[in-house]
Order: sequence, then C-alpha cells, then structure tokens
Amino acid sequence: MKIVLKNLTKKFPNMDKKQGGEVIAVNDFDFEIPDGKLVGLLGPSGCGKSTTLNLISGLEKPTEGRIFFDDEDVTDLPAQERGVGLVFQSYALYPHMTVEANIRFPLENLRGDAKLSKEEMAKRVREAAALVQIDGLLLRKPSELSGGQQQRVAIARALVKTPRVLLLDEPLSNLDARLRLQTREEIRRIQKETNITTVFVTHDQDEAMSICDMIVVMKDGEMMQMGRPQDVYDDPASLFVAKFLGTPPINVFEGKTSGGKLFIGQDPVLSSGDLNTERDVFVAIRPEGFRPDGGPLSCKLERIEVMGRDVSIVSKNPAFTGETGLIRSIVDADSVRDLHGDEVRFSLKPHKVFIFDKNTQERIRFEVGNG
Ligand code: ADP
Ligand code: MG
Repeated sequence: MKIVLKNLTKKFPNMDKKQGGEVIAVNDFDFEIPDGKLVGLLGPSGCGKSTTLNLISGLEKPTEGRIFFDDEDVTDLPAQERGVGLVFQSYALYPHMTVEANIRFPLENLRGDAKLSKEEMAKRVREAAALVQIDGLLLRKPSELSGGQQQRVAIARALVKTPRVLLLDEPLSNLDARLRLQTREEIRRIQKETNITTVFVTHDQDEAMSICDMIVVMKDGEMMQMGRPQDVYDDPASLFVAKFLGTPPINVFEGKTSGGKLFIGQDPVLSSGDLNTERDVFVAIRPEGFRPDGGPLSCKLERIEVMGRDVSIVSKNPAFTGETGLIRSIVDADSVRDLHGDEVRFSLKPHKVFIFDKNTQERIRFEVGNG
C-alpha cells in the first residue's frame, strides 16, 4: 500500500494567544510513501512530524489537500476505517489487563462481517506476539515488563488487525540507550517480515538513518528533502539538511567563491570553473572530508582524540561558524603520525565539501577541475 499526500496542509489556531493567527504545522506536502517501505519523518521538535502522522491516520483532518492509500482517497474516512496501526511514545497499555488481553483488545471491537471467533482471535494474538517475540509473556501484566517489552506489546497490538499501514510516533523515546538501539533493529526486522508500509517519526537522525529505506527531512512544516538516507547525506540540498544529518556534525565555515576558487579566509581550498561568480557562501565539510597532508586549509591544532581505528583532529579556524568553535575531522590513525607543532594543514575531499548561498542557504553545485 503506497501513501500519497497531495498538497496536504494543516493549520492550527496559534496556541500562543498573544501572537494570535495560525500555525502552519504542515505546509503543502506533496509526496509519496512507497509501498512496503520503512520511511522516516525526521526533523526537530515542532516541525510537524506528529501532525503529518495524525493526518495519515485520520486523527486530524487536513485544512487542505488529500490523502490516498494506493488509489483510494481516504481523506474523509474516519480513523477506525483506514486500517492503520498506531504506536506512540507512551505505550498506553491497559495496566489491569494481561499482555494477551491488551493485544486482543482491538479485535474485540470488530463488528459485522469483520467479527472474529474466540479461536481466530487467540490465533491472531499468538501470531502478533510471536512476530515481536513476546510469546512467552502473554499472561503477564504490563507492570511486570521492561520498557522495551511494553513497547513490543504496543507494536503487537498495532499489528494484530493486520493494518494496511503502520504508523510509529517516536516509539523509542521512552527507552534507555541500549534498549533504543535494540528495539530499532526489532522495528526494522518486523517491518521487513510483514512488508507493511511503515512511517516512523523521530527527531533522532541517527535512528532514522540507520533503519529507514527513505527519510523525509522536515523543518517548520516544510518538507526539505526526501531520499535514501545515504543519498541525502551525500547530497544535501540545503544547509539545514547538511547540518541535521551526521555525527559528528558537518563543519560549517564562512567562505567565498571568486575567480574559479573557493576560499576559506585567505586559503584557496578548491578550484573549479563553476566558481567564477564572486559571492559569499557557507562551506560545509563532513568530518571525513579532511586530509591532514599539508594542503591549503590552515587550522590551529588543538588536540588529537583517539577513537579506536580512527582519530579525531580537533582544530580551530577564524572562519569556522560552529558554536563550540572546534572543527572535528576524522582521519585514520596513520595520517597523524607526522603532525606536530600548533598548525595543521588540510586538503579537502571535493565530494565531502558542500557550498551554500549565504542568504538562501540553498546548495550551490560545482564540479572540481571543471574548466
Ligand atoms: P513534531 O511532532 O514535529 O514535534 P507537531 O506536529 O506536534 O510537531 O507540531 C507542529 C506545530 O503545530 C507546532 O508548532 C505545534 O505547536 C503545532 N500544533 C500541533 N498540534 C496542535 C494543536 N492541536 N493546536 C495548536 N497547535 C498545534
Ligand atoms: Mg511529535
């Protein structure tokens, strides 16, 4: 089942009465979530992720636009008739019911043709529990489970009606770091096994990048970029997207283009015939884009941090814009053997360097050695 959003917009009255007016939580979304994929909605808090999910589930009605499941227009269909499974940050299990009863609950509300026999319900509950690997816990109460197990129960409950789409809103946020890692792998596995089109909301780029087939990066109700995680990382369309993805984060400098060269301060760091126009730009360099080989970019060496196989060179440069003031590059341990003194000079890997218009913060594309 693919999900198609057509010019989808949701406005709310501003909750801040002093400001008044409206908040555009979702602004003109026009994209397709492909069939059978795990797609991440990713962006900072307040960017409209939950609202988008609630529009897809039917919990919210759009101000404008339509939603399709395959060719079926579901915009006016009530939530309970859309065939969606929902999982939230809070597991919201019934504390007085066993795990089994919690998972069975959605089946007991089925009426008419959809009504199931006791045996059929029991079979479905067993299947859903097995899928999320909690079949041994069916007779326990939620309070007798770990957070990770409770979230598995919530996922089983969402899956028991074999939904057309599965919607997960920050499902890992209440778990500790170790369980978060483990449960995200579980979600990936369950999605692969069931092949249900799944939308996964998170503000954690690492989480989205690691398990999603595709990510949709959002900001202030706008869809900024959509694509496979690696493609978006390698080819960000805007400074916002470049900064949002990657740990350690991308290093951003003020710079300029002039006479076929890209400058950081006075240092000409790359040459390209595409850079003849004189303009101020932001230069964003991935940590893995630096080579400490005596190249043109001069930085003040602060320290070297060992990270195992790789090392991080921590340095400074007056044109660097990062809040910490510390440039972080990641290089292999061998390449720092000859580093000494208080200067480090880098050359840059061109495909790890992105430049953005100083005003619009949109990408300016260039090819090294062109011209
Ligand atoms: P996210 O899930 O990405 O954190 P939300 O979708 O919850 O973001 O919210 C997007 C914007 O819409 C925010 O500015 C939020 O304050 C506003 N908003 C969400 N729900 C409501 C509501 N029911 N009434 C008024 N404003 C809302
Ligand atoms: Mg939210």
